[in-house]
Amino acid sequence: MDYKALAERLLPGDYPALASYEEKYPPRNLPKGAQVTRLAPSPTGFIHLGNLFAAIANERIAHQSGGILYLRIEDTDLKRKVDGAVEAVKNALRYFDIRFDEGAEIDGDNTYAPWYQRQRAEIYRAFVKHLIEIGRAYPCFCSEEELECLREEQTAKKEITGYYGKYARCRNLSEEEIYKKLDEGKPFVIRLRSMGDPENKIKFCDAIKGEITVTENDQDVVILKSDGIPTYHFAHAIDDHFMRTTLVIRGEEWLASLPIHIELFDALGFERPRYGHNCSLMKQDGETRRKLSKRKDPELSLEFYRKEGYYARAVKVYMLTLLNSNFEEWYLKNPDKPLEEFKFSAEKMSKSGTLFDIDKLNDISKNELSKLSAEEMFSFLKTWADEFGSEEEKLRFSESEKMLKVLTLCMGIGGKKRRKDITTASQAMGLLGYFFERPAEFEAYRVEDVDKTAILKGFLAKYDAKDDSQTWFAKIKEIASENGFAAEMKDYKADPEAYKGSVADVAEVLRIATTGKANTPDLWTIQQILGETETRARIAAAL
Ligand code: GLU
Repeated sequence: MDYKALAERLLPGDYPALASYEEKYPPRNLPKGAQVTRLAPSPTGFIHLGNLFAAIANERIAHQSGGILYLRIEDTDLKRKVDGAVEAVKNALRYFDIRFDEGAEIDGDNTYAPWYQRQRAEIYRAFVKHLIEIGRAYPCFCSEEELECLREEQTAKKEITGYYGKYARCRNLSEEEIYKKLDEGKPFVIRLRSMGDPENKIKFCDAIKGEITVTENDQDVVILKSDGIPTYHFAHAIDDHFMRTTLVIRGEEWLASLPIHIELFDALGFERPRYGHNCSLMKQDGETRRKLSKRKDPELSLEFYRKEGYYARAVKVYMLTLLNSNFEEWYLKNPDKPLEEFKFSAEKMSKSGTLFDIDKLNDISKNELSKLSAEEMFSFLKTWADEFGSEEEKLRFSESEKMLKVLTLCMGIGGKKRRKDITTASQAMGLLGYFFERPAEFEAYRVEDVDKTAILKGFLAKYDAKDDSQTWFAKIKEIASENGFAAEMKDYKADPEAYKGSVADVAEVLRIATTGKANTPDLWTIQQILGETETRARIAAAL
């Protein structure tokens, strides 16, 4: 068969010489040992924990070796494409401080661009044409229905499904048959002519799993679809070669395609990057472990962490704990060091399923947030509120001095009782509302039948915002005595029948009137932060 003529018929026109691509995309000029890694998401709009898992590994390996991390968008499947998806990927990853050096919509070197696969059609076709010319690829005219029939037949016979061996009907079409179909205008795809034999096992050195054995590929996979766009398998081989990728950490769901990728790289005459297949994130569900699911587990989506306001460092610490077996110990010794100082290694990544436990993440979050200064807490919460908070929540940060005081008080910053139960920004913001907005709802009192009016009136009569906390408290005691409450707890305990209640009940009335809440930090400090006018206004409103 005249393959050259066939290639010309299938993909007419002049394509640049293949060698010119080698010149256009030369090997990168990087120090020895520097790794070039990438993230290659499809623009589906859904970016998940598995992506972050791989992103952290790729980012660490690239940057700690003095290499490059780039972002490539694998948009060959138009059906799955969603508008704004690239922005979504970038935003989601930026939150976790994944910095790309190059790539789609990244301000960086564009020697290896374009970064969108749809913009790389010419180079893919040039190589497809070459494979046809050397007899390693051929046109296939089978329709969807025919392929479906084939699948059914194979399933019924309990054979491996797919287009291979004796089932690869178009593989051995004669020249005459091919041209006849082309003349009839039949649509076609281009398939790889596989030379593999599933009897042959290949030893493969996975960067994470170590030496594994895979079966040689014998599937004549589609490399160019009927619309002239390549499949993922083919496009990624071209791209990883010409973007000079040296290492790919990706999910283990790709392990099944590895034999195809090995054969494609060989057929193209390219040296393969190293691959490391990381294990899937599992969730304990009752007695069983299962993969995190998009439908059932909101915590799979990275959006979840930003919307709830998880502290990025906490999520990263947990991810690193899951990613590298020696991270936890390192972190115990170096709790305040930048995470970049940890020496990450692909070899220390888990070889089988990793359990993702949101309670563990929450514990880490509480601990991380309890280390923040008031200024750090301010900036963390403000960033969250600017994007996800209500209008009221956003406004709270315009009074920055007040907010810093509120945070110091509510989080116990610098005090003996540092609050250690805050997991997210949304939770924290929920605790601060009463400092900025008058309470609309009031929590229940412990003692219901107390004469609140007398207490509130008594307070308004005595209140002076200039009082220090001792003077202030002495006045509360006076109000207690005047209204039949024990001014001293011990007196009340000694003879509870003699009083309507204790000074604590009096304070509670004032507390709920001021904040709407039965439990708050020190009330004197709260009233100091609110200021005299607001404090009086709230007590008056409660009256
Ligand atoms: N585009 C593939 C995905 O969406 C990337 C696979 C790879 O990293 O090679 O998962």
